[in-house]
Amino acid sequence: MVLVPVVTFGLIIGSFLNVVIARVPEQRSLWMPGSTCPGCGNAIAWYDNIPLLSYLLLRGRCRACAVPIPWRYPIVEAATAALFAAAWLRFGDDVRQFVVAVAFLAALVAITVIDLRHQIIPDAITLPGVVAGFLAALATQRISWLDSIVGILAGGGLFVAVILLSRGGMGGGDLKLGAMLGAFLGWQALLVALFIAVMLGGMSAVVLLAARRVARKDAIPFGPFLAIGGAVALFWADAILAWYLGGFHR
Ligand SMILES: [Zn+2]
Repeated sequence: MVLVPVVTFGLIIGSFLNVVIARVPEQRSLWMPGSTCPGCGNAIAWYDNIPLLSYLLLRGRCRACAVPIPWRYPIVEAATAALFAAAWLRFGDDVRQFVVAVAFLAALVAITVIDLRHQIIPDAITLPGVVAGFLAALATQRISWLDSIVGILAGGGLFVAVILLSRGGMGGGDLKLGAMLGAFLGWQALLVALFIAVMLGGMSAVVLLAARRVARKDAIPFGPFLAIGGAVALFWADAILAWYLGGFHR
């Protein structure tokens, strides 16, 4: 079954994304030192650092001091593996498109969790992401380089307008993430991603306000909704646009 190596690859990248999520907001190196337990400071052995399996075998606790390992570790690993499997099923007949898709999805997973935890979207991911998205358009020809450039300008430009109008409701991190989505998706699919993000964000705000989980003045991070919109657009923007434009012209 070809999905076994793809899922394994996704679990390994998911494990790496957990390091990105823990260290990038603190501006620590991704490579040195190796992982240590935040409870007791002991180095984590390779056999206690196997994606998903170690979490299950250790029952979610450090072997040395039994401090709980956060849920987000196995969740990020499983989610990344599932997205990689979906990317293989959708893009697997073209290796270049598959590589671009999983790089894009991995960045979106890291951005989502970091924005939920810290209310920031790191430039260290989005700025290289803008360049990578443009180079990916050149390499795969899935979208034209011009659609990628227009996507970058549209994704960044729309947020400049929103930031000026809302006076602080959105941040520069959203702007750079918008530009990154435009670079990877092209402006047409970017519009699908933004539409989905605004719908999901609006619905979530209504639900959270009604449940009194947030107050009206609280800022709800928008990055996760942009990331979900970007992932949905990666897989289905063509179908959504064809359906929408087909209905429009009828
Ligand atoms: Zn420990």
